[in-house]
Parts: sequence; structure tokens; C-alpha cells
Amino acid sequence: MSIDSDRQLDVLYQLGQLLLAPQPLQHRLTMVLKQLHTVLPFTAARVVVLDEQQPWSLAVPAPHQANKGAGRAAESLWPAGCTAQVLRSRSLAPERNGNSSRPAPVVQELDAEHAYLGWPIGWRQRVYGALELVVPCQLLRGDIWALIHALVPLFASALSQTQAGNNAATATLLAPAEQQELDAFVNQLQAPLLLQPLLAHLLRWSLDHSGAAQGSIHLAEANGHGLHLLAFELPVQHSALPGDGLALVQSKRSHDLAKIALANGRAMVRQTEHDVQFAAPILYDGQLLGVVALEGADLAPPALLFVQRLAELAGPALLRAQFYQQLADARTHLQQVFDELPTGLALTNSDGSLLRANPAWWRLWGIDQNAVDDIKLVPWDILPRILTRLPDPLAFSELFTREASALNEAVIVLQNPWQELRLVFMPVRDTLGLQAGFLLAIDDVTREREVDRLKSEFVSVVSHELRTPLTSILGYTELLLARDFEPAERKEFIHTVHKEADHLSNLVEDLLNVSRLDAGKIKLERWVMALPKLVRELVAQLNKELDVERHRLLLDVSDSLPPIYADRDRVRQILSNLLSNAIKYSPEGGEVVLHASVLHRPPPSAPSLPHEPSLLISVSDRGIGIPQHELTRIFERFYRVDNSNTRRIGGTGLGLAITRALVELNGGRIWADSVTGEGSTFYVTLPLATEMLRTRR
Ligand code: ADP
Repeated sequence: MSIDSDRQLDVLYQLGQLLLAPQPLQHRLTMVLKQLHTVLPFTAARVVVLDEQQPWSLAVPAPHQANKGAGRAAESLWPAGCTAQVLRSRSLAPERNGNSSRPAPVVQELDAEHAYLGWPIGWRQRVYGALELVVPCQLLRGDIWALIHALVPLFASALSQTQAGNNAATATLLAPAEQQELDAFVNQLQAPLLLQPLLAHLLRWSLDHSGAAQGSIHLAEANGHGLHLLAFELPVQHSALPGDGLALVQSKRSHDLAKIALANGRAMVRQTEHDVQFAAPILYDGQLLGVVALEGADLAPPALLFVQRLAELAGPALLRAQFYQQLADARTHLQQVFDELPTGLALTNSDGSLLRANPAWWRLWGIDQNAVDDIKLVPWDILPRILTRLPDPLAFSELFTREASALNEAVIVLQNPWQELRLVFMPVRDTLGLQAGFLLAIDDVTREREVDRLKSEFVSVVSHELRTPLTSILGYTELLLARDFEPAERKEFIHTVHKEADHLSNLVEDLLNVSRLDAGKIKLERWVMALPKLVRELVAQLNKELDVERHRLLLDVSDSLPPIYADRDRVRQILSNLLSNAIKYSPEGGEVVLHASVLHRPPPSAPSLPHEPSLLISVSDRGIGIPQHELTRIFERFYRVDNSNTRRIGGTGLGLAITRALVELNGGRIWADSVTGEGSTFYVTLPLATEMLRTRR
């Protein structure tokens, strides 16, 4: 008998297709043997499958039909001991050049007309079973060997893929009711589920259906050495029904069967002394995604087949859930960044409709986030909310009507309180590259711009403050060197030089104080001290330098004031700064009053004050005054009220900044109250020397 080689290939292709089809293995083997019969008219054929639990076989024709076929008795059809010989021949066969897929058959003559042929089905060192044929002897003379040799590896791959799983679960089809239940489960998996709920449902169903005592579900994760498993199980206290709140916990137990199932890519069953262990892989398109593992005293094969099918069918849903999970995680991360970012962000479409904005966006505009529902258009719905703070509403709205196709930047100034916001427009494009809207970003640049302004102001102020006294020192000393003057005149010149040098020295001292404060190098020596004595000394000294025609220093300080707890030298510096400012900024003269009393009721202009017994000191003048909106800013470094009066008077803008730092170091507060053109009052509180304060020191 000979079959032409094209036909052989054709048959081989068909057999391959049949063998690897998704039907149960028994069904496939029957089909394959029947198809083989069409080109190789054997008397009988049998496949022996070495199942890990129990070997089984499948024969064509089935034993009860065999009598009619070949005329040989069914029981005598297969010679005794041949199968064992075939299986042994394979495992004993030495590997020749690694070519293990061409094993020699075991041949035995049965009678004058029939012969037995047996091939081991295996791959490398593994034997999965045997293919046995009883053939008419004339067939042996034909060209059947090449076909069989090509067929054996196909059998090997089919048996290796499904053998254990199918056989463990008896390799039968599911009963119709079970199939229906499985379909219902799989249907539920079509809903978009996140990873946790999906795994929890799968495990819950597997446990419920199989009656297993324990179960775990494993996710395959690639690491540097290949795949490893992350094991999860249901918490001990779980609800009986799969539903909301079904959560998994990480499993700490050992799961070696799951690992074996993962390594082999197929279902595994292990019978131990006490129970049955089962592990079924979750696969998608040949890719191993995870394993469902169960353990129980009596896990019936149909239930295991059910779980195995469920695991197989869950592959696409698991892949989808992993994908959703990644999306959800990425979204959560982005949302967190968006919410926490100190930069205000708003996304609008091209007509300015607000799509989304982060909390910083509302915070920076000073709009309460709970009242933003009716803000639909940027900037038109924002404008009314900030109108009272906008010095130039027209410029503000023009910003948004400008052609903003490229990246655009602007600074918006708001008042009460003063705030400078840098606004950046960035066009946002859709996937086609067309402009879909804008991303608007705002940052509070008040401090940044202030620092810049202060720096340049500092340079000009300090150089001016240095130059003025230096010029007069140089001028007078040159005069004194060039000519002889009358003693009285000379004394006056030297007095001026001394005054200017003193001024310079104060300036340098202020700068040093600022840098010491910055470096935290000012250490206080706080003691219990009496204010009246210190004030009297200070006023006596100032009075000596005062033009009594113009200024009068009045004291309203009772000798019976309770002591304060403070650093004497620093208090002197604080009061001296305030008194000299009061004199300096009253160029027309007038009274300067220093008042001190125990603080009972804070003046209306006071900020929030510490709740401890304090002394309230105030220094009032009848000078040029300070505009209301500058009252807090004058305590900032280098900040000077910008008007012709202050420019004429001169100064560095450091005194009040130093004064405030010293007051606060002593545990007090400072603020000012003023009416322009009428005068100013500076208030200082200092803690009274209570027992508690002293011991807290
Ligand atoms: P300087 O006096 O060197 O300018 P200060 O820090 O002492 O610096 O004061 C800051 C600003 O506060 C002054 O430039 C002035 O504009 C304002 N100022 C301070 N004290 C008074 C006052 N008593 N009356 C009016 N303006 C004052």
C-alpha cells in the first residue's frame, strides 16, 4: 500500500487540526483515528494515555464493535504486554543527536494476516502514552512509516497540553445544566470589572461550585527570572454571596501546585493523604495570566472540569480587568497630581467653556470651591467674582480676547489683599492636531516679584543712603584739610561729619541685624524687667538730640506697671526705632507720645493676639501718616511708602522689619494704625512676667 506524499501531507494537516481543536481529548482522538483509517486501513487502533492519576485508553473500533470488523476476538485483539514494552522502549531509548521524535515501533506478528505495531508518544524524556495499531500484514509493505512518524509528535503535543486537565476532570463535556451555569458566569465577566472584584468573583464561584474548603487565586507577574505568582485568597470572614465588598487578601500559604500548573501551562491534580489539590491556569491566547487553585476533601472531577473551563474562559476578562486596572491607576495618579498641584489649572474648550479645574485654580482666584457650580465660562463667569479686587477689569478681559493660539503669558494684579498671578495659556490639541481648547495655568508670583522688586529697590536705597552721608563726610573733611577755620566753625563741621558717620554706622548696623536675624543668630537674654525705668533712660537720651522747638516727647507710663519678661537691649532697640520713626516722619513737628499700660481690651486695629497677660505700648505721632493699604507692608524688608515725603526723608525700609522680628522674638506683636496727614500710632505688646512664663523659659 502506498499513499502519495501530497496526500500524506494533506492528511497530516487535517490530523493536526483535529488534534489541536478545542474539543475534549477523547473526542479528538476518536476523530483522528477515524480520519487516519481513511488513508491507513488498520484493523484496530488504540491510543493509551498516561494520565497522572490513572492511565486510560481509547480504541477504534470500540471493543464491542471489534468482533464484526476484523474477525478477531475483541479480547485477543491487543497482545498482552506489548503496551508496556512500547512505553518502556521509549523511556529506555537513548537520545540520538537530540532527535527523539522518531522512535522505532514495537512490531509483533499476531497471526498470518495481522501484525501489531506500537509507538511511544513522547517528547524528549517524557512519555505521554502510546499509539497502537493492528494492521493487515500487507500494509507493512506499504509506505506508512513517514506518516506515523510525523503524527507521533502531534499526538505528544495534544496529550501534553490537555492530558492532565481533561483527564483529571474525566475529559467529558459539561452537563447541560453546568454548561448553562458556566455561561452565566462568563456572561457576568463581560461587565467591565476591576482586577480585585474580578479575581474575587472567580474565586468565590470556583469555591462555591466545587465545594472546596480552601482556594486561592494567583496572578502571573513577570520579573527578572520569568513569571512568578502573586497569591490572593478570600478573607476568613467573607460574605457568602459574590457582590459588593468582596475583597481579597494576600495569601501567605505555600502554593506549589499552582506554581507547577503555571510552569506546565496546564491543569494539575494532586491526591494527598487527606485531600485533593487542584490548580487550573487562566490563559489568554497562549499567554499565562494566572492560576485558580483549590483544595478540598472530595473534589469531584466534574466540578474540577467546571473550574478548569471557568479559568480558561476568564482569560479575556482578566486581561481586560488588568487593562482597566492600569487605566484606573493611571487616572488616580493623575487626579492626585492634578488635585495637589499648587499651580491652578483649568481646561476649557475653544469657546472658553470650563471642562475641569483643580482646587488650586479656585484657591488662587480667591473663589470658594463650594460655590463654583455656576462658573461655566472662563473668564466671564469669574470676572464678577473678582471685580472688586481688579484694579483694571478692562485689561483683564482683553487678555482673554487676544488671539491666543501660541503659548501666552500675562500677570494679573488683584488688590485687597495684594496678589500677583501669572497666567499662562497653552493651546490644547486633539488627536488630529486641531486646537481643541486651552489649558490655563495660574501661579501666585506675589512673593517672587516682590523679592525682585525689593532687590532692585535695596540696591538703589542702600547706594543712595550710603552716598548721601559719604558725600557730606568727604566734602567737610576736604574743607577742613584745605583751610583753617574758626574753632566754632570747625566744631560745627566736625559735628556734621560725626552725625553722618553715625548715620552710616546705623545703616551698617541695620544690615548686620537683618543678616543675623536671617541666620537665626540673634539670641535673647530674657529677664524680668521694669519698663518705666528703661523708657525714662531712653527718652532722656533722645531728648538730648531732639529739636525741642519742633518736637516734644511725652511719656504716659506709670511707675506701678507690672514687670515684663523680655530682653532689655532688644526692647530698647524696639522703642528707639519706633520713637525715631515718629520723629523722623513728623517733619512739621508735633508731639510724640509714648504710652504703656496693661492690656485689657485690644484696640480695634489689633490683629489676633496671644492669650497671655501682656503690656500694651503705643507710640503716636502727628506726622505724615501712612495710607491704609500700606499698614501691613511697612513691616516688610526694604519696604518704604512710596511718596514724595518719604523719599525726601530718606531711609532703608529695614527699621520696622527688624523691629517686628525683635518684638516677635520676645513673644509680642506689633501693628500700626494711621490716618494720612494726621499721624500714626504703632502698637507693641510684650508678655508680662508671670510665673508660668519664667518657668517656661
Ligand atoms: P525707613 O524709615 O528706613 O524707611 P522703616 O522700616 O523704619 O524704614 O519704615 C518703613 C516705612 O514705613 C517708612 O519708609 C515709612 O514710609 C513708613 N513709616 C514708618 N514709621 C512711620 C511713621 N511714624 N509715620 C509715617 N510713616 C512711617
